[in-house]
Amino acid sequence: MNKGLLIVVSAPSGCGKGTILEEVLKDKNYYYSVSLTTRKPREGEIDGVNYCFVSNDDFEKLISENRMLEYAEYCNNYYGTRNDIIEEMRENGRDVILEIEVQGALNVMKKCPDAISIFVLPPSVKELERRLRKRGTESDDVINQRLAKAIEEMNSADKYNYIVVNNALEDAIADFKAVIKAEKLKADYAKEILDEVIKNA
Ligand code: 5GP
Repeated sequence: MNKGLLIVVSAPSGCGKGTILEEVLKDKNYYYSVSLTTRKPREGEIDGVNYCFVSNDDFEKLISENRMLEYAEYCNNYYGTRNDIIEEMRENGRDVILEIEVQGALNVMKKCPDAISIFVLPPSVKELERRLRKRGTESDDVINQRLAKAIEEMNSADKYNYIVVNNALEDAIADFKAVIKAEKLKADYAKEILDEVIKNA
């Protein structure tokens, strides 16, 4: 059995990355890594499903115990991925998706050179602002802070393996799936089946 892929996805908040992933995750072979965060839950968010919501002290304790694969500070809150479950899932053949911001993603790329990285880009900054305001979950201050962060993050998009533009949602979903499909068709990934066919020739 092939080891599962490690797929790192980043996008400025408001890019529609959540909606793309919701569709992709209908395939139950994916394992969505639930992150830890010190940010307060938004309305409708469920602890253990969207995030594990923890205190600053608890987060810093996990860092000091070396139990985070990666973490970052984003808009004054900690966000991070615990390292215990990722490898286990991959060994069991599950494709693991990390939905994380740029700093954490760059760290994962360094630590796990086999990770596949995808940056979801909005069609324009203007459209991103419109989507953020429409969401209506954040104050003007927070929206402006997130927009500034978005522009900063887009400057790192070229460090990713793939860029998916979320203009029309259907197309973005298809592009995302095409990336994963292409990764699984790589000779390296298909080596096991190749060996099997040759052995039985
Ligand atoms: P939000 O507050 O909008 O849910 O997330 C803010 C940012 O934190 C998003 O870019 C999201 O991808 C990122 N994020 C969520 N979980 C993690 C994580 O585990 N690690 C890192 N580095 N970033 C994360």
